[in-house]
Amino acid sequence: MNIALIAHDKKKVEMVNLTTAYRDILAKHELYATGTTGQRIIDATGLPVHRFKSGPLGGDQQIGAYVSDNKIDLIIFLRDPLTAQAHEPDISALLRLSDVYDIPLATNVGTAEILLRGLDAGFYEWRTLQKAQDREKIDI
Ligand code: PGA
Repeated sequence: MNIALIAHDKKKVEMVNLTTAYRDILAKHELYATGTTGQRIIDATGLPVHRFKSGPLGGDQQIGAYVSDNKIDLIIFLRDPLTAQAHEPDISALLRLSDVYDIPLATNVGTAEILLRGLDAGFYEWRTLQKAQDREKIDI
């Protein structure tokens, strides 16, 4: 599965702790992240992470484009609910797209842990099937 990881500045330590704690699960998947978040995860876990631009410079929109292209399966977006963000429209757009495409998205660590455990338990295998079917439709 392709997992997108984003954390606002005040949530980056939580993201580092989460990805460190769930390193073994995350290692089985392809990881994508906004620029700074991705670098923090690489430094902390050593896992390979495809880094987009930093969020305020368009990284959230790049991840949104991947969602609309069916290339992201799950999103962990640790938002800071107490600080105004210059790129708020991009954040809202990504949340909206995840709902348009039914992509599970966690905005806090509690939900993120449940998604990662569910993913590892195989609760999300239908997505692999769905993507295979979508590919067949395109091939026809
Ligand atoms: P960053 O972007 O990972 O580059 O800090 C996250 C964001 O603020 O949306």
